[in-house]
Amino acid sequence: MPETATAVKAVKQSYPPTPEILQMMETFRQMVNDCLRAGLANDVSSLKKLSKLCYPALSKCPIASYYKLHAISKAAGILANRKQSIKRGYPTKTPHMKHPLLISSYGFKVANGILKVPLGDRQYFDISLNSYVKNILSGPAVTVRSFTLADSNTVSICYAKEVQKIECTTAFGIDRNLANVTCGNQDRVIIFDVSQAVKVAENTRSVTRSFRRNDVRIRRMITDKYGRRRRNRVHQLVHKVSKAMVQDAKQQKAAIVFEDITFIRKLYQRGNGQGRDYRGRMNSWPFHELKRQVEYKAAWEGVKVLTLTKGKTRGTSQFCPRCGKRLQEAERHDAIHKRQLLCAYCKRWMDRDVVAAMNVARKGGEVFHRSQGPAGEAMKGNSMTTVILRVDAGKLSRRQIDGVVHQPKT
Ligand SMILES: [Zn+2]
Repeated sequence: MPETATAVKAVKQSYPPTPEILQMMETFRQMVNDCLRAGLANDVSSLKKLSKLCYPALSKCPIASYYKLHAISKAAGILANRKQSIKRGYPTKTPHMKHPLLISSYGFKVANGILKVPLGDRQYFDISLNSYVKNILSGPAVTVRSFTLADSNTVSICYAKEVQKIECTTAFGIDRNLANVTCGNQDRVIIFDVSQAVKVAENTRSVTRSFRRNDVRIRRMITDKYGRRRRNRVHQLVHKVSKAMVQDAKQQKAAIVFEDITFIRKLYQRGNGQGRDYRGRMNSWPFHELKRQVEYKAAWEGVKVLTLTKGKTRGTSQFCPRCGKRLQEAERHDAIHKRQLLCAYCKRWMDRDVVAAMNVARKGGEVFHRSQGPAGEAMKGNSMTTVILRVDAGKLSRRQIDGVVHQPKT
């Protein structure tokens, strides 16, 4: 019996709001803030207690009752997060909802390409969905969960489906680097070239630096605008890589294994003895974004994802993935073996990133082996010729990656 799980995704589009909708969003915001105040004053953060505390007071609000429930649940979520932060010793501010919002998972309908937002008294506000959203929501086994109106003109629709988990026969390790993302195991490795992201970040930095006007508001406007542009471009690139990786793992029935990289930013902070440009470069890559994307895409496809603890991945790029002996670094002036490591025992030069990905895959495989028995057997690949594929993520398309995988040129 294969394992099943509920996978959740969201899709958004823009729409023209009416004054009535905007008023409802504002009412929702005020309700959330009322609940937050009440919760803070009475030191209550659980949904049940907060409902008891706030629901009577919200009865006067001129809005359908399921919005009241969602406002309370939103406030409870914020309060619970705050409590967690305090427990972990992070500084917190008094929580406050700044932007108008409207959420509901009840009372709405999606039919004939129209989202019917309930206004109360069996009245609806119609949002006609665009073809992309319609197409997604009409997918097989997809159910619509809830809608969110935010930003005064965007609607986000949350949808879900039941997914059968793929029984994995192997594991792919992921090594995240500045210039590339390496994914694979002992038998086969794909290196995605993401150096484009570094170029985008450098370009943005030089553009924002070139503005000389000494006005903090203008400067902030410009950095915001170019920061958004940079993020959109880099995330687009990351989307291509994560999509290709998940599809590949699905095809090969592989689990995806990540290293724990919490606190990676702490490696590149001011005062660590690194140059400003170097720190800027290292911090410009969205390492966590890749994982976030892979996780939700993999969940949607039923591909298993595993994150190894720091203890398990210590020294992943120091030991030979074949014989387990310690690797030697290339001499500094050795230009041929740049970013490569030598195993004196196997007498082989290996790419540093490939070594890391292989070791992560092997350790992930061991974890699976222990948790599900014979599936781990396939992990002990002992072929001596690993296929290493290089893919330019900037030019990636589905057809290309399929072609590359089936006809490897080594
Ligand atoms: Zn070796």
